[in-house]
Amino acid sequence: MSVIKKVTCHVVSAPIERPFTSSRGWLYKTRGSCIVEIETQDGTVGWGECYGPSQVARSFIDTQFAPRIIGRDAFDVEVIWEDLYNRIKDYGAKGMAIAAMSGIDIALWDIIGKTCGKPVHKLIGGAFRDTVTAYATGLYFIDMDRLIEEAVEEALEYKHGGFSAIKMKIGLGSPKLDLARVEAVRKAIGDDIRLMVDANHCFTVPAAIRLGRELEKLDVEWFEEPISPEDLDGYVQVTQALDMAVAGGENEYTRWGFRDIVSRKAMDIIQPDICAAGGFSECRKIAALATAHGVECVPHAWGSVIGVAATLHFIAALPDQPPSFRPMPPLFEFEQCENPFRDQLAKEPIVLLNGSVPVPTKPGLGIEIDRSILKKYAV
Ligand code: CA
Repeated sequence: MSVIKKVTCHVVSAPIERPFTSSRGWLYKTRGSCIVEIETQDGTVGWGECYGPSQVARSFIDTQFAPRIIGRDAFDVEVIWEDLYNRIKDYGAKGMAIAAMSGIDIALWDIIGKTCGKPVHKLIGGAFRDTVTAYATGLYFIDMDRLIEEAVEEALEYKHGGFSAIKMKIGLGSPKLDLARVEAVRKAIGDDIRLMVDANHCFTVPAAIRLGRELEKLDVEWFEEPISPEDLDGYVQVTQALDMAVAGGENEYTRWGFRDIVSRKAMDIIQPDICAAGGFSECRKIAALATAHGVECVPHAWGSVIGVAATLHFIAALPDQPPSFRPMPPLFEFEQCENPFRDQLAKEPIVLLNGSVPVPTKPGLGIEIDRSILKKYAV
């Protein structure tokens, strides 16, 4: 038995030097997270992370979930998942309630791994690969007077830093400007670098289809969140109209949420976030559903080193889609905007090596948390 003794939420926030925005229009001035720490009676500590507004995640955990899991066996991780979900689903079958559960689930898998002396990917079926090809997420909007120049400069930094794939933001209120910016980036990085675009759901269906047809000429690999996530019929239309892959789902939750997307093939690629959609336990089920419907699963990642490590274990255990002599395995989203919790929270940071990121091999998530960073940025 690994009896759960204590659950602590660390809400952290750090200012950043160069605020940035996407098509959503929010200016990111800080980076933050709700980091979940779970301790067992034998002194094992597991770490998890919740995506989204961190104070809300903390409130869900402190008031709803923590009291229900104290005294239970961490190895009953899926029993605990079902119990917490059934507790909360009348009020929060999607959104922050599930993000809060995700943080708990990830921490419990970390505990199980540390107790068994095995990395999490060994517990969820084993690694299909030791390293995961990464793509750089960046090219947000920073200097409104240099939108094209800054995108080109940033893309070249990633190329020279060893990335073989880059995802850029679009959605500047002018499809012409978007197209000019993507064109400039494609020209600068050349044809050998894979390029994706992310609109953060700012377009209408006809605007997305029209722009998508132009982007296809620039060999853009996928069009992420072209339209609003609520409009599943619209996603079916855009996906059927375009030759390029349509991706989305970072704001969808649980197997029930993803069931409707994959069964209707509303997207070619689903992007569950392990820190949001339900943790390892649930994202494994979501990935299985996707496979059964011929939809790719390429997880979303936007968080601290805890989310990064969890995503790497999860991807390591995903089969090639589809298996072949020279498969095209799922990519890891390595977000590159300023974030001290990604770069400093682990005593040994997770870094890019020849365009890929090694899957952690130490027990649990395979990272050691530097508590001084939690203290320094505590809210
Ligand atoms: Ca995105």
